[in-house]
Amino acid sequence: MEIRTLQSQIAATFGARDRARGSDGTFRRLVEEVGEVAKALRARDPAALVLEISDLVAWTFSIAVLHGIDVDDALARYHRGCPRCGASPCRCAVDPPGEGAF
Ligand SMILES: [Zn+2]
Repeated sequence: MEIRTLQSQIAATFGARDRARGSDGTFRRLVEEVGEVAKALRARDPAALVLEISDLVAWTFSIAVLHGIDVDDALARYHRGCPRCGASPCRCAVDPPGEGAF
């Protein structure tokens, strides 16, 4: 599914609820999903991780919709590689130990 199509579907499905909940409440839900992703990672549960990643992305789209951000346009900065160094693969300094590793 194209990113713009998915964003339109998220807006149609959850836009009214997200507007009623507001930006702060919707952002809290997004943060809760980050915790769910962490739980799935700690549990080494690939099926749960798939579900939680999809929820996390959906809540991110909800925030984007609330703020009029076109996610496809926003992600364009990644289309040619790393937005910082411009390379693919990234040539930025390696993350400190414990960071950035999956
Ligand atoms: Zn880089």
